[in-house]
Amino acid sequence: MSTKTWLLCKCSHCGEGIEFTSNMAGDVINCPSCNQTTKLPGEARWTFAGKLFGFSFLALALSVGAWMGARSPAERLGNAGFALFWLVVAAVLFISAMIERNRG
Ligand SMILES: [Zn+2]
Repeated sequence: MSTKTWLLCKCSHCGEGIEFTSNMAGDVINCPSCNQTTKLPGEARWTFAGKLFGFSFLALALSVGAWMGARSPAERLGNAGFALFWLVVAAVLFISAMIERNRG
């Protein structure tokens, strides 16, 4: 038994509402109203971009946490490498998320 999520979008030609299941997201189908081909919104891709955004903020939080959480300048210096690493990870994930979102 599989659980299907029903989604609703509008046909890009006639503007009629089209109901489709989440596993059809991103597919090209024939509109039931005007019978022209229309692309269903890529829900799966959005979710992936959303995850990337989530992870980028998590990495940023780790970076800021390591930097701000230090109780002495020496400890802060010791954490600098760790903070910088996660800052770079956050930046890469954020850029990937933007690319992934724009592609859909
Ligand atoms: Zn249509």
